[in-house]
Amino acid sequence: MHINTPKQCLSIVVPCFNEGSGLDAFFSRVESVVSKLEKYDYEIVCIDDGSRDNTLEILCRQVTLNSHIVVLELSRNFGKEAALTAGLDAARGDAVIPLDADLQHPPELIIEMVRRWESGSDVVLARRKSREIDRPVQRLVTQWFYRLHNWISECTIPRDVGDFRLMDKRVVEALKCLPERRRFMKGLFAWVGFRQSVVEFVAEPRRSGQSSFNARRLWALALEGITSFSTVPLSVWVYIGFTVATVSLISGCWIIIKTLAFGSDVPGYASLLTAVLFLGGIQLMGIGVLGEYIGRIYSESKQRPVYIVRQRYGGRNQNV
Ligand code: UDP
Ligand code: MG
Repeated sequence: MHINTPKQCLSIVVPCFNEGSGLDAFFSRVESVVSKLEKYDYEIVCIDDGSRDNTLEILCRQVTLNSHIVVLELSRNFGKEAALTAGLDAARGDAVIPLDADLQHPPELIIEMVRRWESGSDVVLARRKSREIDRPVQRLVTQWFYRLHNWISECTIPRDVGDFRLMDKRVVEALKCLPERRRFMKGLFAWVGFRQSVVEFVAEPRRSGQSSFNARRLWALALEGITSFSTVPLSVWVYIGFTVATVSLISGCWIIIKTLAFGSDVPGYASLLTAVLFLGGIQLMGIGVLGEYIGRIYSESKQRPVYIVRQRYGGRNQNV
């Protein structure tokens, strides 16, 4: 007798912020990929992260065309990390795949990822083969960020791996157990661990619209990454302070000996001023680092939700 077991489900999670111009192309490409995975049921969870263009309108139209699409409208722009968290919370699949809406992540790779998942990997990472489409400065800064982060942090983020990956349900459940409000997803993904394997891909240029990560946002993200996973910037001040104090002590002794031996010469304002400014600068930096961490403690202690859903369209409680 043939027992009909329910199909396993793949959830594709798509954060969207002002992606209106490219969404139709995105859905047709994703749909042609999932049609090749007939063995699986699927859902596409799209998060409208407070877009200011016609993204929501297009998503709602897609919901009426395809019953596998679920749309969560957030009450404002919460940022990609929060949108992704909302998507992971809503996803019900046995495997979950975050995917950018701008087609920079080729959906065709999902087929290979699913194959790896079937053969026992809990996490299948998609690694970018080259960063040719990035500007050289961006490439250099990214490289240095990873190097610094991995040097001083408690867990290692694999290089050239973004949010594009396949995660088993177990991994997603583990991610949901991490209570922090300020979420640096790359770090959280690395922190939970699990059995991983890697597939490679070539990132494509953005199909339409423009990247919402300018230098300021990338800097904020890098800071978030380091302060969320490392306390080295806090403790390093002990050593810097110790070094500066030792050097000042030695130079102070030297001045005393010199004065006793040769008498005092004309006092140098320049060297005095340099020393004062140098120490002042170091102290301000130290206070700044403390401020970064205290700011984070403050925002965590408020316990605000990571995101707020305004409305849900499609899926189980169909609203459209
Ligand atoms: N995104 C988002 N909220 C934001 C910024 C971006 O949901 O505040 C989404 C965006 O729609 C895209 C993904 O995150 O699907 C990656 O963003 P983007 O392409 O701008 O970043 P890049 O590829 O340049 O790193
Ligand atoms: Mg992009």
